[in-house]
Amino acid sequence: MAAAKVDTIVRGGRVVTATEVLDTSVAIRGGRIVALGHDEALPPADRTIDATGKIVLPGLIDCHVHLGAVYDDWSTGPVAAAHAGLTTLIAFAEYNDGETLPQATKRIADEASQASVLDFGFHFIVNNEPHILEGMPEAFEMGVTSFKIFMTYKKRPKRMCTDDFIAQVMEKLTALGGVCQLHCENGDILYHLENKAIAAGRVKPTDFPATCPPWTEEEAINRAIRIGAMTGCPVYVVHLSTAGGLRRIKEAQSEGQRVWTETCPQYLLLTEKEMETWGPFAKIGPPLRPADGPDRAALWAGSEAGFISTVASDHSPRVPAAKEPGRVNIFVDPDGKPIPFGAPSLETLVPLMYTEGVVNRGLPMTWMARVLAENPARIFGLYPRKGVIRVGADADLCIWDEAPAWAIDRAQHLGIAGFTPYEGWQARGKPWMTLLRGQVLLNSEGVLEQKPGFGQFLARTSPLPPIGGSVR
Ligand SMILES: [Zn+2]
Repeated sequence: MAAAKVDTIVRGGRVVTATEVLDTSVAIRGGRIVALGHDEALPPADRTIDATGKIVLPGLIDCHVHLGAVYDDWSTGPVAAAHAGLTTLIAFAEYNDGETLPQATKRIADEASQASVLDFGFHFIVNNEPHILEGMPEAFEMGVTSFKIFMTYKKRPKRMCTDDFIAQVMEKLTALGGVCQLHCENGDILYHLENKAIAAGRVKPTDFPATCPPWTEEEAINRAIRIGAMTGCPVYVVHLSTAGGLRRIKEAQSEGQRVWTETCPQYLLLTEKEMETWGPFAKIGPPLRPADGPDRAALWAGSEAGFISTVASDHSPRVPAAKEPGRVNIFVDPDGKPIPFGAPSLETLVPLMYTEGVVNRGLPMTWMARVLAENPARIFGLYPRKGVIRVGADADLCIWDEAPAWAIDRAQHLGIAGFTPYEGWQARGKPWMTLLRGQVLLNSEGVLEQKPGFGQFLARTSPLPPIGGSVR
């Protein structure tokens, strides 16, 4: 009996998911994976992609990206990400003053659907204003199931949330089945130390990290975990940067609490010495940590051991003009407005994690599939549609070529930042081709075959626990 034809077969590659390594072909029909198996067991295909010698990963996801007017926008950000090998973004979105969460959900989903070449979802940033919570159930129904709280940034109106408000948000999310993401730093202490530094004239870029000591992250993580335990809400600590914070997270995980965390390339690879080189361009929150401290080694070990579930970019580029005043005063401009936090990271995320994780530190490719595909999909309610190569999943693939050796150069980048802190770093490997819902997105010539607007809004559901345990 002749089997029905399929659209595409990707043959000859080594398929690597978070849990498996298989020499198998992948058959695709109607944008989904319909079969895995050896060629002779698969039906004929309209198109065959020969991935011999390559690694076939699930489509890669960046689950912490800032897109919008002051950053890369919903068109240029996804285009840049697509060139860098990603197929899905979950970005942070903000509602406007006077807008409800359902109104903002519709507005942003509509706008981004016109603009994005990648599939996308978004998390809302929730400011300290209880009335906004009224729209949370409807936004949740529309597919926004994760909400972020800031425990710092006291100089930005309504940004920093009180513990009372955090508890209210978490209670609401527990009832709905959502996830609470938290930027964990003790905002009152950072405010105090920053004001003291300004009063004393310690306002050089290199004076910045000392105003955000590592213990303030650990303290805020502890508070987030305790409020999470009290309310029963899953806690997701964004951009973990310290060994002390990780210790507290591991303790909560060992007690069975739903506490998950991500780290970012900048905390795995860079130190506060970058402030000397890049000045305000390396001002990020939390700050880059001391070069002689325990943090980077602890974060690598925590990711390898499975306590840190994801790696994400926290891409938040700014135009150079917004950062420049920070050379004179790293904290505030002449009008008292905070010098913005944030740096570009989207376009270096995948090559750096392959080079520094897999090549230089010997982590297995299953680690890449875990931290950049399956775990973000599980935690943010996209699994098993995204994050995995299996029958029924979207046919999102990143076909990875291990061979290229190249140097990172800002001229390769499409974002607005105009610099990368990894300028000149040696990289290995490149995305050779990506597929999004069965269509070639990035082709083997490095050209995008899809246009802005190809991407679809992903209505997300409740979290599944991430895969843990040692990756070895
Ligand atoms: Zn962020």
